[in-house]
Amino acid sequence: MNYLNETIDSLHQKLSSKEITAEELTEQTLENINKTEEKVHAFITVNEKSVDDAKKVDASGINDRLAGIPIAIKDNIVSDGILTTAASKILSNFVPVYSATVLEKLEKAGAINIGKANMDEFAMGSSTETSHFGKTFNPWDLTKVPGGSSGGSAAAVASGEVIAALGTDTGGSIRQPAAFNGIFGIKPTYGRVSRWGVIAFASSLDQVGVLSKRVEDSAEVLSVIAGVDEHDLTSSEKEVPDYRANLNKDMSGMKIAVPKEFKDQGTNSAVQEQIDIALAAYEKMGATVEEVSIPAIKHAVEVYYILASSEASSNLQRYDGIRYGFRAENIKNISDMYVKTRSEGFGDEIKRRVMLGTFALSAGSYDAYFKKAAQVRTMFIQEMDAVLKDYDFIMGPSTTSAAFGIGAKIDDPLAMYMNDVLTIPANMAGLPAASVPAGLVDGMPVGLQIIAKPFEEQKVLNASYALQEENKFYEQIPTAMKGAN
Ligand code: GLN
Repeated sequence: MNYLNETIDSLHQKLSSKEITAEELTEQTLENINKTEEKVHAFITVNEKSVDDAKKVDASGINDRLAGIPIAIKDNIVSDGILTTAASKILSNFVPVYSATVLEKLEKAGAINIGKANMDEFAMGSSTETSHFGKTFNPWDLTKVPGGSSGGSAAAVASGEVIAALGTDTGGSIRQPAAFNGIFGIKPTYGRVSRWGVIAFASSLDQVGVLSKRVEDSAEVLSVIAGVDEHDLTSSEKEVPDYRANLNKDMSGMKIAVPKEFKDQGTNSAVQEQIDIALAAYEKMGATVEEVSIPAIKHAVEVYYILASSEASSNLQRYDGIRYGFRAENIKNISDMYVKTRSEGFGDEIKRRVMLGTFALSAGSYDAYFKKAAQVRTMFIQEMDAVLKDYDFIMGPSTTSAAFGIGAKIDDPLAMYMNDVLTIPANMAGLPAASVPAGLVDGMPVGLQIIAKPFEEQKVLNASYALQEENKFYEQIPTAMKGAN
């Protein structure tokens, strides 16, 4: 089973009419993954228990729209009894004893965890090249990166291995890979989705979201994973709408703000051209488009890398060789164990962030770095809120360029960090944001980013759906997958 031409709706019909059983669908999905992985390597672990899980769904009946539908789970989302590594050597033998709330909710709805998707180590990166378990390749061009950190989730969807995948987004890790792979991806409002059981990177920014070819499929999955959770005190009690049932592509009267700073951040002119075509399409649908200014955007990368690294340095203290995963051998005493375990267990990018974060939080630099960055974060919130008082959406490119070559930026951390310049603002302000395919630049996909007010996921999905139905990008098959289905 290859999912390139399917939707959750088409699958649900096949399952509920018994044209196919959940068990058969899961087996066929595994066969296809097996074949496709040679090209893309989107998974760290394929779930061996998935066929048994599917049998249980068959036995209890196709009662829910997600029942029997295989979904990929980013490997920083813990899964009971199934290896969960966050793509790090330090967790290379970690088998959790419980599942994240998002995964529990999916499984309760009958969805099948088909496997754990590859990612940048601890979700730090923009290319999935920092994974301890090898790189993932972009299905549109196998010499290019799939983006990151949710690159495995995105490539699994774009190559048709799965219909949808969960990802996480701290500074852009759902939207940037969605853009690079020609698929849809949404990061919800901070607090919309529980983070319980999601391996923490930067807790004040992390949020779980969904990637799929079609907007309606992400809408469907988002309604299932969203909602309050007693285990996550930052989760919101706001009621969760049926996002899919409420989808509507009416853009008339909508006001779209386009920050001029998005263009000034080095957005490639061919990318901007595709964005302008999308914006013109909205104007034709009755929306208005106006340029605005959000000056804080200029500081996005500096502020993010101070705050996210500070939080990461604290969150990653728990990997000490005692509580989780890997422990170095030939140790002399306890401090030797900490040092050796962390030196051997963490990759270079993790060490870079822990050093940067520890420095920014240290007594001598706290005021100059961490506190200053926290103040600039408040500017982001204020400036974006002010724009969203007068406008329905903030829109612009998701990324400044299309996917780059494997190896092109891995030795240049600053060039890699610049990937997030357009996606960070929504994380800073906790706003819902999506990337929806806008078109191709030299054969590689680029995405339009859509941001709205807190808890306006429905509006983000609706605007995305309107563009999807206009450009029908989902009809395009990634180059390396032609003939695959
Ligand atoms: N690329 C960014 C980083 O490396 C964002 C990561 C993310 O959103 N998880 O930190």
